[in-house]
Amino acid sequence: MGLNKKSVDDINVSGKKVLVRCDFNVPLKEGKITDENRLVAALPTIKKLVADGGKIILCSHLGKPKGEPKPELSLAPVAVRLSELLGQEVKFVASPVVVDDSVKAAVDAMKDGEIILLENTRYRAEETKNGEAFSKDLASLAEVFVNDAFGTAHRAHCSNVGVTEYIDTCVVGYLMQKEIDFLGKAVETPVRPFVAILGGAKVADKLNVISNLLEKCDTLIIGGGMAYTFLKAKGYEVGASLVDDTKIDYCKEMIAKAESLGKQLLLPVDTAIAKAFPNPIDAEIDVDYVDCDAMPADSLGLDIGPKTSALYADAAKTAKTVVWNGPMGVFENPVLAKGTIAVAKALAETDATTIIGGGDSAAAVNQLGFGDKMSHISTGGGASLEFLEGKALPGVVAANDK
Ligand code: AMP
Repeated sequence: MGLNKKSVDDINVSGKKVLVRCDFNVPLKEGKITDENRLVAALPTIKKLVADGGKIILCSHLGKPKGEPKPELSLAPVAVRLSELLGQEVKFVASPVVVDDSVKAAVDAMKDGEIILLENTRYRAEETKNGEAFSKDLASLAEVFVNDAFGTAHRAHCSNVGVTEYIDTCVVGYLMQKEIDFLGKAVETPVRPFVAILGGAKVADKLNVISNLLEKCDTLIIGGGMAYTFLKAKGYEVGASLVDDTKIDYCKEMIAKAESLGKQLLLPVDTAIAKAFPNPIDAEIDVDYVDCDAMPADSLGLDIGPKTSALYADAAKTAKTVVWNGPMGVFENPVLAKGTIAVAKALAETDATTIIGGGDSAAAVNQLGFGDKMSHISTGGGASLEFLEGKALPGVVAANDK
C-alpha cells in the first residue's frame, strides 16, 4: 500500500507560514534529552521547508502535562538541541496557553526561512479532546499544515487532526511518509517469507494485532509475558506467570486460526523461571531454564529460554521481511534480557527487511547498538501497533489526498 496523501514534495511553501506538527516527545532526565532519535527523524522535513523559504512554526506535545503548564515538560530543551542539529536558530516562543497574542506577534515578525517552536501543545486541556478553540488558535498561525508526527498519528487531537479543519493545504512530512511506506509495504505487499514477532506484557494489548498479522504473515512468533497465556491455552502448567485467564479462549482461537490458514505459530519451547518477579526490576535474580511443558507450579516465566532463542533466531534468519514489536522477556533486567538480545541480534544479522515497532523493542535495539542494522525503526509504538492492527490512523487520514 503506497501512501495516497499529498506530501511536502507536492508543495512549495516559499514565503508562506507553515505549521508543522512534529513528534518531539523525547525522554528527558533532569532537563537533558536522553534519546534524540525523534529529533533527528524530524530534520529532513524541516530542512525541506526551510529550503523552500517558508516561515516554519513547529509544534509538538511532550509527555503528559494533563492540560496545564508543567515546567519540567517544557519544550525549551528541544529548541536548544534542534538549533544545534539544524545549525540554525530555532526560536522558542513560550506561552502557558501555547498560542496567544505574543506568539501571534512573533509569527508575524518572522522572515522567510526562519523557524520557531511553540510550547508543549498538551499544556492546553483541549488538545487531547480535539477541542475547537485550540484547533482554531493553531490554525490561525499558518496557511499550510504539515503533519510529521507519526507517534501521535493514532490519536485525533487538535494539533494533528482538529487543525486540519481550518487550513486548506494539509500534507504529510517525510517521516510520516517513510513510516507508512515501510509498515504499509511490510503488511500489505511483503517480500515473503514474512515473519512477525510479537512480545511484551499482555495478550489483551495486542488482540487485533495478533489476529491481523496471522492473516498477513507466514510465521507468527510469540514471546514475552503474553506467551504464557498461549501456553496455558495449550494446557501447560505456567505457575505464577503473567496470565490473562479471560483470554485463554482467544488464544485457542488464534492457535486454531493459524492451523486453518496454514500459518506457522511459534510459541516458546523453554523459558527462564524464577520464584518471584525481580524487585526492583533490575535486581539480581537467580533463574533456571526449563522446558515449557515442565514448568513448576511455584515459579514464573520471565524470559524465553536458549532453545527458544535459537528457534526464533532461525525463523527470523529465513525471512525476507520481519516485523518485531515487544520484548521477549523482562528485558529491563540484564539476566532476563537474553531472549530479547538474541532476537535483536538475529535481526541485525539478516539481510531481510527488518522493521521494529516503536516502544520497548525500538529502545532495546538502540541500546544494544543494533539500530543502524535495521531497515526501519518506527518512531511510534502505539501508532505502529494500530497500523499493524489494520486500522486507519486519524492523523494520516486528515491530510489531503493526492
Ligand atoms: P509492552 O509494553 O506490552 O511492550 O510490554 C513490555 C513489558 O513487558 C516490559 O516492561 C517487560 O518487562 C514486560 N514483560 C516481558 N516479558 C514478561 C514476562 N514474562 N512477565 C512479565 N512481564 C514481562
